[in-house]
Amino acid sequence: MNKEKTNISFPVDYHIHTILCNHAGSSMEAYIKKAVSMGFQEICFLDHLTLGEPGNRFSMTPEEVPLYFNAVQMLKRRYVGVINIKVGLEIDFNPFYVDLLQKITESYAFDVIGSSLHFPGWIDVVSRKSEWSRGEKDSDYIYGIYIESLDKMLDQSYFDIVCHIDLVKKFGGNPSRSFENDFDCIIEKIGRKKLAVEVNTSGYIHPAKEAYPSFDILTKCCKSGVEITIGSDAHDPESIGQHYDKVLPLILQAGYKQISVFTQRKRSGIPLPAGCRNL
Ligand SMILES: [Zn+2]
Ligand SMILES: [Zn+2]
Repeated sequence: MNKEKTNISFPVDYHIHTILCNHAGSSMEAYIKKAVSMGFQEICFLDHLTLGEPGNRFSMTPEEVPLYFNAVQMLKRRYVGVINIKVGLEIDFNPFYVDLLQKITESYAFDVIGSSLHFPGWIDVVSRKSEWSRGEKDSDYIYGIYIESLDKMLDQSYFDIVCHIDLVKKFGGNPSRSFENDFDCIIEKIGRKKLAVEVNTSGYIHPAKEAYPSFDILTKCCKSGVEITIGSDAHDPESIGQHYDKVLPLILQAGYKQISVFTQRKRSGIPLPAGCRNL
């Protein structure tokens, strides 16, 4: 890898979408080319699999999973020696589809599986067109449902990473009481299950204006021995590595010395370079 080309502060991005989810642009190879041009050493496609959502507007279908998996494998081989390409899924937790989800994750040699809550209890907390985004839902109620769903999600064992753990803050609707203790219990459960938490930089472009998770949650995760991955949640090639400059000093300040990567569901750590400390 040509070091001079590297203009990003940590050369790994573990959350990249593809055109298969119906709301991301460009070809898979366009993301790869952009990552290579920025000096990335490893990227992971982590595209949506959301079951039970009418119309599959935000996700590939289960029938498209082999197509997705094989397309990334082909690109992985094409770019050997240039960039490491990993393949995973960002699965929406849905208690009614747990068996099918488990089966899908076991049917392919995925590198990593992430789990998300975009629709806890069938409430949309992610779309700009949602009632939650417009402030038309009771914040305490939504936070309550979100935490309850997170807790239930953590009873499952088909995934390795908790994606954007505090996504519920996306639109800035604050609850009237603190949910700190609730998140503490969640972090403790994640620690017990030895799952990783994702540091997702897309929060900087949302009304939340900070990464997922918050610095407070990140610090507690570190204290509880919870490992982290890092990802931009890119839905277009230009967003790869977005806002890493802002989040890396926070990751170091929280106490982390390394960031996790995965190969066929096995975790290893890449040390944070000393250079990050000077950002
Ligand atoms: Zn998406
Ligand atoms: Zn997501």
